[in-house]
Amino acid sequence: MDGPPGGSTPVTPVIKAGWLDKNPPQGSYIYQKRWVRLDTDHLRYFDSNKDAYSKRFISVACISHVAAIGDQKFEVITNNRTFAFRAESDVERKEWMQALQQAMAEQRARARLSSAYLLGVPGSEQPDRAGSLELRGFKNKLYVAVVGDKVQLYKNLEEYHLGIGITFIDMSVGNVKEVDRRSFDLTTPYRIFSFSADSELEKEQWLEAMQGAIAEALSTSEVAERIWAAAPNRFCADCGAPQPDWASINLCVVICKRCAGEHRGLGAGVSKVRSLKMDRKVWTETLIELFLQLGNGAGNRFWAANVPPSEALQPSSSPSTRRCHLEAKYREGKYRRYHPLFGNQEELDKALCAAVTTTDLAETQALLGCGAGINCFSGDPEAPTPLALAEQAGQTLQMEFLRNNRTTEVPRLDSMKPLEKHYSVVLPTVSHSGFLYKTASAGKLLQDRRAREEFSRRWCVLGDGVLSYFENERAVTPNGEIRASEIVCLAVPPPDTHGFEHTFEVYTEGERLYLFGLESTEQAHEWVKCIAKAFVPPLAEDLLARDFERLGRLPYKAGLSLQRAQEGWFSLSGSELRAVFPEGPCEEPLQLRKLQELSIQGDSENQVLVLVERRRTLYIQGERRLDFMGWLGAIQKAAASMGDTLSEQQLGDSDIPVIVYRCVDYITQCGLTSEGIYRKCGQTSKTQRLLESLRQDARSVHLKEGEQHVDDVSSALKRFLRDLPDGLFTRAQRLAWLEASEIEDEEEKVSRYRELLVRLPPVNRATVKALISHLYCVQCFSDTNQMNVHNLAIVFGPTLFQTDGQDYKAGRVVEDLINHYVVVFSVDEEELRKQREEITAIVKMRVAGTASGTQHAGDFICTVYLEEKKAETEQHIKIPASMTAEELTLEILDRRNVGIREKDYWTCFEVNEREEAERPLHFAEKVLPILHGLGTDSHLVVKKHQAMEAMLLYLASRVGDTKHGMMKFREDRSLLGLGLPSGGFHDRYFILNSSCLRLYKEVRSQRPWSGAPETSHRPEKEWPVKSLKVYLGVKKKLRPPTCWGFTVVHETEKHEKQQWYLCCDTQMELREWFATFLFVQHDGLVWPSEPSRVSRAVPEVRLGSVSLIPLRGSENEMRRSVAAFTADPLSLLRNV
Ligand SMILES: [Zn+2]
Repeated sequence: MDGPPGGSTPVTPVIKAGWLDKNPPQGSYIYQKRWVRLDTDHLRYFDSNKDAYSKRFISVACISHVAAIGDQKFEVITNNRTFAFRAESDVERKEWMQALQQAMAEQRARARLSSAYLLGVPGSEQPDRAGSLELRGFKNKLYVAVVGDKVQLYKNLEEYHLGIGITFIDMSVGNVKEVDRRSFDLTTPYRIFSFSADSELEKEQWLEAMQGAIAEALSTSEVAERIWAAAPNRFCADCGAPQPDWASINLCVVICKRCAGEHRGLGAGVSKVRSLKMDRKVWTETLIELFLQLGNGAGNRFWAANVPPSEALQPSSSPSTRRCHLEAKYREGKYRRYHPLFGNQEELDKALCAAVTTTDLAETQALLGCGAGINCFSGDPEAPTPLALAEQAGQTLQMEFLRNNRTTEVPRLDSMKPLEKHYSVVLPTVSHSGFLYKTASAGKLLQDRRAREEFSRRWCVLGDGVLSYFENERAVTPNGEIRASEIVCLAVPPPDTHGFEHTFEVYTEGERLYLFGLESTEQAHEWVKCIAKAFVPPLAEDLLARDFERLGRLPYKAGLSLQRAQEGWFSLSGSELRAVFPEGPCEEPLQLRKLQELSIQGDSENQVLVLVERRRTLYIQGERRLDFMGWLGAIQKAAASMGDTLSEQQLGDSDIPVIVYRCVDYITQCGLTSEGIYRKCGQTSKTQRLLESLRQDARSVHLKEGEQHVDDVSSALKRFLRDLPDGLFTRAQRLAWLEASEIEDEEEKVSRYRELLVRLPPVNRATVKALISHLYCVQCFSDTNQMNVHNLAIVFGPTLFQTDGQDYKAGRVVEDLINHYVVVFSVDEEELRKQREEITAIVKMRVAGTASGTQHAGDFICTVYLEEKKAETEQHIKIPASMTAEELTLEILDRRNVGIREKDYWTCFEVNEREEAERPLHFAEKVLPILHGLGTDSHLVVKKHQAMEAMLLYLASRVGDTKHGMMKFREDRSLLGLGLPSGGFHDRYFILNSSCLRLYKEVRSQRPWSGAPETSHRPEKEWPVKSLKVYLGVKKKLRPPTCWGFTVVHETEKHEKQQWYLCCDTQMELREWFATFLFVQHDGLVWPSEPSRVSRAVPEVRLGSVSLIPLRGSENEMRRSVAAFTADPLSLLRNV
């Protein structure tokens, strides 16, 4: 065994030592015999093997490579210096080179984890003090550094940076003494170093620093000496290397430096690595005592009970062997002694609760290592946890052990037990290191700007799933660590949010927020990328393909699985929210600015963020408060209007700004018959207040009659349009529109308008259409509101073109657009008819509602049943003008907490009791006009459409969209609802195509080449197919010949109702006819085409009042419930 004379303990074990010839200094030819010694950190050479202090030392970290040259010689090459040595033999040279190469490889592996390898200043820990000093015997001043418990001597600053020095003095044997004003002696048993400083003050500072090093050397070896007092602790618990000076404080084992490096790689969840010598603060009396009682003896009896000799480690084992062994030993628990209770969680927990009250630490260790829950409930409310029990029993060592294992992961062989959470799999190793600026972690969101001074520079290392931050790049013990698996969110605030140009926030499961800062854009980007990679599982890595402002995991409910919350991965960039769900299909990003609803439900303890898009609803649950609040703010911001231009507004479904929607909808519902609507001005202050809140968050503004006067709303809309920075028709194109109005030829003018319309940006185009459509409706009521086309043009011309009203052309454009509304905007006749119906319904219902008092806050409430008409299934529901049958269906299912399974074709039916017939509403049908037409013997019911699947199969298998065939027919002419049945059922031939249902009295002849029999040329009757309403069922009073009948209702222009009764021979035939009707009436779209209809179900009672709507209750209860459910009253113009 080699060591310095005097028998003092070597601080680092020597890897290789021996005599070598060193190449001579310049100008000499004679090789010099040197005693050369290599340890893990340094290559040193001495005049003799008796010397304590080297002539030179070279940091292993600075050696770039080792090369063989002729004559048994080899070179040790550093950045800019080469040292040549000559060995006695080729064998010896080979041994030296191998030893050096291995030392270099290990150094690099360690450096990657914890030191300054990447920084290019290797070989030097941050010194406590460094500077120039005179040393007696040397001509020039030396550069001296006091680092930890050593004093290092370098020829100059340059060599200090290069990591090549003269020698270092272990201060455990040192003593310092003042000599005179500027001089002092450093005395060791082997030599006295006489230093002189430049000034008395400097001398004092040097003395202080060196005394500190002595104190450190003494106190640190004191801990090691005490722990080594227990014999098993004198050898590394893992590889058996002597004098191990590192430890894992949770596993309670003492280990060598090499094993410590690998332990750190396991992550703090498996092993918490501390130095016996450097982490002085850690080593309390209790911890030392614990190591004496447990330590390597008990540790290995448990952890290494079954190590096959082939898998055992040696002090010389390679890093990869070491890593494998330690993974198996501590992460998987492969060699552990299984506790008899292993696998029985309840018994393990009980046994743990018993063990912690005794002095049997080994039992506690074995139980925890076999899966006993460290936080299991003891059954005793006074002392609910094992820790509390230990405290009650006065077992301080047990307490210490439990505390150190608070976050230790239970070892498991991956093959034995599948991991519960997909994200706790070992993530691909991402490593990165560098300096970051960091603030103290916070327990709440950062509201204020953090000044530069609040950040501290920290050396940060990301590796093996842990982000560690160190005091400096030489520090071995991190100041703190964040496990990647604990990271729940990573957010990137906009530049210059804090004192550093670039910052990013890391949120952890433990509800802490860490803020890091950087100056460099590239570095910030790189760090964010690396951290994201480290915590996002492969499943969600698509999210990393784009830049993001926020990324993380959140509990959510959506789609078909509303029973329990699952964890999904989300990223936010701009106004797009992307999501990756562990189950379920790939989702389109949610366009936050186009949400129909963005609200928070639940109480402050259980907040749920509800995002409603046209066909899907997402619930994000606030299980963890901190990152949820962060997401909440970010999503709200992203969903808000970004600026003043039209396309920056919150947008509705068809690209119309919500702000325009809201106003138009309100006027449609409450202002169509108001005299002078849009001409009259609202109260300035009210208008301004309203516009303000609309601009801030139009989505959350719900205009209610009685609270807002229609004139205030109309003025707000006008003001909004007038103030648009670019105008509705855009600055660039405004003139072209005005010029077009002067074209004399009407047809040419209209086609010019159409041309110009195409050139507008999409949002402007959609808004122009919606607005003109609205004005078209307004002028339909000019009898009551006095606002004919001309009057509206006078008001809106200057508003839309932002002119002073002098230019008549602006008004003319508006007038033209309203007059030629159908042609300019290519409005379909059917569309127009529906729109008229809806408006008529609204106006009628307003009149009726005012009289009977059923109208509530500008909306209409109707009764809908679930499955069948019974008092218990009654639901009162608010019907906004825009509500479709599908929306109504989903809402009813939500309220009753009915989950939708695949092939559940939930549909809203209009049931006519008197006719004993029912009509499934098409999913896109608007409910309000139907409601208006509903007689007293009709009602709405939501139930499954049993025939839908068969119909869809039929439609999918068929070519063309017509159907021919015989049916039994009976006519019923009813004028104003007075039915006068005439005659019985007769066979008739029918042809249904995309435009008409035709009835032929007789089949004339059968042509062999034609699929359809030839009929007489003129049909007996013919009805336009789109205006027919087809009900399933025929009333029994008419004695239908089969039970597969349907009733077709045709309402003529004069509101004359005609009814036909048709009967098929089989159920299948009935379904085919019915399917064909649906197909031609709705242009082939019979059922929503989305792969999965996402329910808006409200899954849990705790979500608040929404799901608590009483099925039956007092009117007040009902009103409250309905008011709580503030679904958007969307504009009826949405689909225009
Ligand atoms: Zn070891």
